Amino acid sequence: MAEFSLIDRYFKTAASAQVDLGIGDDSAIVSPPVGEQLVICTDTLVAGRHFPLSTAAHAIGWKSVAVNLSDLAAMGAIPHSILLALSLPQVDDAWLEGFSQGLFDCCAPYNVQLIGGDTTQSPHLTISVTALGWIPTAQGITRSGAQVGDYVVVSGQIGDAAFALQHLGHPLQQRLDYPTPRCELGQSLRGLASSMIDISDGLAQDLGHILKASGVGATLSLDQLPLDPALQALAPEQRWQYALAGGDDYELCFTLSKDNYQRLCQLNPTTPFTIIGSIQAEFGLRLEYQGQPQSLPLSGYQHFA
Ligand code: ADP
Ligand code: MG
Repeated sequence: MAEFSLIDRYFKTAASAQVDLGIGDDSAIVSPPVGEQLVICTDTLVAGRHFPLSTAAHAIGWKSVAVNLSDLAAMGAIPHSILLALSLPQVDDAWLEGFSQGLFDCCAPYNVQLIGGDTTQSPHLTISVTALGWIPTAQGITRSGAQVGDYVVVSGQIGDAAFALQHLGHPLQQRLDYPTPRCELGQSLRGLASSMIDISDGLAQDLGHILKASGVGATLSLDQLPLDPALQALAPEQRWQYALAGGDDYELCFTLSKDNYQRLCQLNPTTPFTIIGSIQAEFGLRLEYQGQPQSLPLSGYQHFA
């Protein structure tokens, strides 16, 4: 199949009022809303490295969008559109059908449009998605604003995806294959959170990025980690390993003052969230269990290990 008919068949979308010019020309054209900034990110998924080779095409399509919307959510941005750079070993219609459906299924609830991309042949299945979103000017939530005395909070449950990767076929595989980008929660944290990150490489490592960027430290209470019953049933060290050093959660980790935590509770977001610790002036990440200091040999996902 020629590149053009492949694009037309699987990726061409109907014109949308939100996009001035979509797929089909040399570039797409979009008009940012007045008073808002463009927020933009890219994430690449490589078969066998970022997802098991056995992963269903539909799940790969979903996840390639979800990981990018998660990055936008972590800034407090409103997602708008994506571009897709697809490198395929061969044209497999059943695979493309599932993949494109999964991609659009993840876009639809957030009203995100596919506005362009590139399609190439390559020995390795590689998917790069670039996502665009908007944020009211100067309201982006960065990693660098955590303040001494802030709570450390996470959304949802953590460690599910890392557990599922070791237990393929377990019901938690849904969380590995179909992460939920926390767009609504991220947006509701504008003006409330002092810092935020999405958890892709493990809570300890990703919270570490906030601590470093903010020039502060934190203590986490291991008793408070929001864990699935499947993880709670494990030996403590094992469950903490998944929760702190596992990857692929795509939950939000953020810091905010006690007053702003109360305001967040009043907003009553649909996504659950849990206080897991607090920010201190002393650098580093400290762990406590039942009020006692704990030391754990932790490592997050290493991209070049
Ligand atoms: P060019 O050679 O000018 O880059 P292409 O032939 O690569 O143009 O792409 C033609 C059109 O199809 C462009 O609008 C491009 O954005 C779009 N496109 C190409 N591949 C994809 C894809 N995988 N998903 C979505 N749009 C795509
Ligand atoms: Mg091109």
